[in-house]
Amino acid sequence: MTSAEQKELDHFMTGLKKRNPYEIEFQQAVHEVAASVMPWYLQQDDLHRSQILERITEPDRIITFRVTWETDAGEIRANRAWRVQFNHALGPYKGGLRFHPSVTQSILKFLGFEQIFKNSLTGLPMGGAKGGSNFNPKGKSRREVMRFCHSMMTELHRHIGEDIDVPAGDIGVGAREVSFLFGQYMRLENRWSGVLTGKGLSFGGSAVRTEATGWGCVYFCENMLHHHDFELEGKRVAVSGSGNVALYGAQKLIEKRAKVVTMSDSKGFIHAPEGLTMEQWETIQELKEKKRGRLSELDEAGITYHAGKRPWGVECDIAMPCATQNELEAEGAKELVKNGVVAVCEGANMPTSVEAVEILREAGVLLAPGKASNAGGVAVSGLEQSQNAMRISWEPEEVDRRLQRIMSEIHARCVREGQGEERVDYIDGSNIAGFKKVAEAMHAYGAV
Ligand code: NDP
Repeated sequence: MTSAEQKELDHFMTGLKKRNPYEIEFQQAVHEVAASVMPWYLQQDDLHRSQILERITEPDRIITFRVTWETDAGEIRANRAWRVQFNHALGPYKGGLRFHPSVTQSILKFLGFEQIFKNSLTGLPMGGAKGGSNFNPKGKSRREVMRFCHSMMTELHRHIGEDIDVPAGDIGVGAREVSFLFGQYMRLENRWSGVLTGKGLSFGGSAVRTEATGWGCVYFCENMLHHHDFELEGKRVAVSGSGNVALYGAQKLIEKRAKVVTMSDSKGFIHAPEGLTMEQWETIQELKEKKRGRLSELDEAGITYHAGKRPWGVECDIAMPCATQNELEAEGAKELVKNGVVAVCEGANMPTSVEAVEILREAGVLLAPGKASNAGGVAVSGLEQSQNAMRISWEPEEVDRRLQRIMSEIHARCVREGQGEERVDYIDGSNIAGFKKVAEAMHAYGAV
């Protein structure tokens, strides 16, 4: 970046920080995109003059509301919920709902902002949004979760619709929660519509939606490795997380004969130096998805448990962070580099901290940002919307074929914008490719 470009970036970020004080995660996400696009953006006189960067970083609207619900013991509880409708230049707002005590407006703004470019990269007509609540589903009974979801939808239903805003799941919101939310939407609106994605297969859900983010991440990783003359087969992969993304990412890795050497949850990680077998993966799936248990309960030969630690210190060739934002920090990145890792492929959103990104970039590690590599989930959500609109459902093979094609196309878009002399800079590639399309659409609409 030239000093003039750096000056523009600093000036822009000073204003953004002033307008969004204390929103650290949002500032981090904007800085990353703005740094990638600034050299191109400054050459686009018309975009620059119509302040596209300032407008694209300001959400269309943020809806904040109270969700009141009743515990099994009959006590009244209240949580805060949000829907950040960030940008619908390319299509109806689309993005997940997150239920986690750490949820704040800043986190949802960063996620909604990232979602704009991720959705743009898929090539499907979807705008960017995100929502959720600081409600903690852990330790709550099924009936308590149901009452919370119903109460949340009682407010949310007036702001969404199949051509307006189509939420989906995220951390803490899986098939069970989407079903509760969908049931209440239908009761209130008295009509069936594809207003949520991630629905059950028997009521409009798409085949492969559950697996899509994890599988898509592995497809992207394979594209990235092949482009740089590496093979996935036989590689040791350190996966973090054991939720939706991590589980199905690990499943596809095992299927493709890579060795999944770690998985984690919020309390610690498991280490399997020889790689998990498919039978062990099934045991973990049962434990996490059905029993909602902890990895510390696992009792399998060849697997050790490490309480309170993250997996980045183990020997591996590839890291796939699939748990949460900023989970791979400088220390972890240094350990990965020391162990000779060739690629980091993000399954989670922004799991790699700013310092860690710098360390990995400097060491020449291939780094696939979540907005490209985890776009498979929203891509199949987009396919779910299409199937709902056409009142048809495709076979799993058909959806998987489309998913693989979309991930290859996203990879090609990143290469087109990010190819360097030796390697592709996937952060720049994805940011520029995603941004250009949205910026051009916004410019075409005039001053709206
Ligand atoms: P889940 O809730 O299914 O799983 C989250 C996993 O991460 C769990 O293993 C959880 O541990 C762990 N985790 C959560 N918070 C922390 C933390 N603070 N520290 C350590 N571990 C943590 O979520 P998903 O798999 O759906 O989502 C994971 C990531 O992928 C998120 O960043 C999400 O935004 C992103 N993503 C998800 C998509 C999807 O389709 N689901 C699509 C695109 C991105 P525990 O089991 O102990 O709770």
